[in-house]
Amino acid sequence: MNTLDILEKKKRGEELSYAELEHIIKGYVDGNVPDYQVSAFLMAVNLKGMTERETFNLTEIMLNSGENTGLSGKGYFDKHSTGGVGDSTTLIVLPVLASLGYKCWKMSGGALGFTGGTLDKLASVGARTDLSAEQTASVIERYGMAIVGQTKNICPADKKLYALRDVTATVDSIPLIASSIMSKKLAGGADNIVLDVKCGSGAFMKAEESATALAEEMCKIGKNAGKNVVAVVTDMNEPLSSYVGNRLEIYGVLEVLSGAKNKLYEVARELTVTLLASVGQDVESAELSFDEAISSGRARERLLDVLRAQGTTDDDLDNLLHAGRVAEVRACESGYVTAVDTEAVGRAVCLLGAGREKLGDEIDYEAGVIWKKRIGDEVQAGDTLFIAHFNKDNVDSALEMLSGAVKITDKKPEESPSVKKILR
Ligand code: URA
Repeated sequence: MNTLDILEKKKRGEELSYAELEHIIKGYVDGNVPDYQVSAFLMAVNLKGMTERETFNLTEIMLNSGENTGLSGKGYFDKHSTGGVGDSTTLIVLPVLASLGYKCWKMSGGALGFTGGTLDKLASVGARTDLSAEQTASVIERYGMAIVGQTKNICPADKKLYALRDVTATVDSIPLIASSIMSKKLAGGADNIVLDVKCGSGAFMKAEESATALAEEMCKIGKNAGKNVVAVVTDMNEPLSSYVGNRLEIYGVLEVLSGAKNKLYEVARELTVTLLASVGQDVESAELSFDEAISSGRARERLLDVLRAQGTTDDDLDNLLHAGRVAEVRACESGYVTAVDTEAVGRAVCLLGAGREKLGDEIDYEAGVIWKKRIGDEVQAGDTLFIAHFNKDNVDSALEMLSGAVKITDKKPEESPSVKKILR
């Protein structure tokens, strides 16, 4: 098979066969196809797209490039978010499901770009995510859920391709994102999966239409693979939780699990209800189940049990709002909060120390922001918009970024729902 012929074919927008896709992807992993040719392939896919069959085949090839957990067919539940700011729904949805008797198993990632990562949030309270298969099985056996990091043998092709996409301006392609995410979900082995596809200023997909197209593509891949996959398109036009940063987000999660009703609660509830409805529970009783799991304190207790089982101590959970230094970012004018550049908030939080600027950077788990006003809130000049938490020197650029992220006008904006669309 000739690599150049395959590239020519994709350049013309024609459908590639399984064997042709395998030639490129497997060849890249094995070192037989150089990265400059794979870069050309990625750009051709980015510009010409892929058919449903090609996207499914690409997913399978990436899935088969590594190991899987062997859990498929055992009825596990999983959830996945395409990434957001202050997005800690995993730590609500899974404990709720586990407390209701469903078995959940999730392989999570670290922070990606300006979005936070569940693994870093767990590490911020001392929970280990590098459990062996036996340790994971034992935590699930006792508590019905475990959240662990992805091992290096899961979808190695995706890992290599993702790194190349990052430096070739080919991240934002629906077939490439869909196959990347779904190859890892299929390797995880859960049979029932809810996807939280974010849209808005703090999401990779800014427009609702592209987020919907991505959600549809991922559901199709999952269904073609014999899985029960549903998706919810949700709003990421402001930080989901008012607490952004690793330990701060754990605080926000515990607040919701103790009964707070906010956007984080709304999205977590819809994801859980949509998943429960997809396995036959009627929507009203699924909503009741979610509310009872929280009001009884069982979901909160379940999260704490799992954290402790993965290594968290009481000291780790003490003083979650502590930071060495604090600065306030105030409104320069009076009016209504009309918009917030959520990606800029995510980037500012990284600059404060909560994320990595480059691979291997250490994270300051205390760093982050508390978003004091929500879209639609009235503010007076001088009111606090953000409280920034940090420990390092020189955070002026982060504070400037936060200050420039908020748009205040004299007209109250229309309320935008947290849940845009449900794909069953
Ligand atoms: N997350 C992934 O795992 N892959 C992508 O391509 C984008 C987001």
